[in-house]
Amino acid sequence: MPNVFNMPQRVKIGAINWHVEQASHDLQLEELRGHTLPALRTMRVDETMPLSLQQETLLHEVLHALSVPLDNDQQLTEQQVRHTAAYLMQIFTDNPRLREFLFQEEDDA
Ligand SMILES: [Zn+2]
Repeated sequence: MPNVFNMPQRVKIGAINWHVEQASHDLQLEELRGHTLPALRTMRVDETMPLSLQQETLLHEVLHALSVPLDNDQQLTEQQVRHTAAYLMQIFTDNPRLREFLFQEEDDA
C-alpha cells in the first residue's frame, strides 16, 4: 500500500535514527495497532487504519522508543504511554496556538 498519509520513514530520538515501517499483516494477526522493536530500532504502524489512529499510534511508539535507554523500572508503562499519547494528540489538536508556539522557528517570530 502506498504511503498515502506521508508518514515519516525515520524518526530521530536522542542521537538514534529509528526506522518507521508501515505494516499490516503481522500486526493484525496480533491485534496490534503498532509495535516497537528496540533491537532493530524499528517502529511499525498498521497502515490500514484511519489517519487519526496512525498518528496516535506513531506517537505511542515514539513514547515507547524514547524510554528504551532507561532502566527497566524507569520505562513508561503501557498505560502511561497510552494515556500520554492520547492526551498529547488531543492537546495539539485542540490547541493550534499552543502547537504553533511550541514548534515555531526562531525566524518566524
Ligand atoms: Zn504500547
